[in-house]
Amino acid sequence: MAVPYACPICKANRTHFELIHKIAREIHKDPSTGETVYLAPELETLSRGGRPETDVRCLHCGYTGSERLFIRAALR
Ligand SMILES: [Zn+2]
Repeated sequence: MAVPYACPICKANRTHFELIHKIAREIHKDPSTGETVYLAPELETLSRGGRPETDVRCLHCGYTGSERLFIRAALR
């Protein structure tokens, strides 16, 4: 899907970004010792409405925010 991005903060950057995907992993801890008693073997990509939950980082100013903010900024 070809969607342009623009940084909503510095506005100058429309080309260089990093995608940040959130990965969840279940962990169980012993509350008194802090020892890990279970660590899930599977990593789970967090998704919102079937799409991966993706943040975007501007490589120009370093701002990180939700992908939709970058898409909305590009529409202006
Ligand atoms: Zn920026």
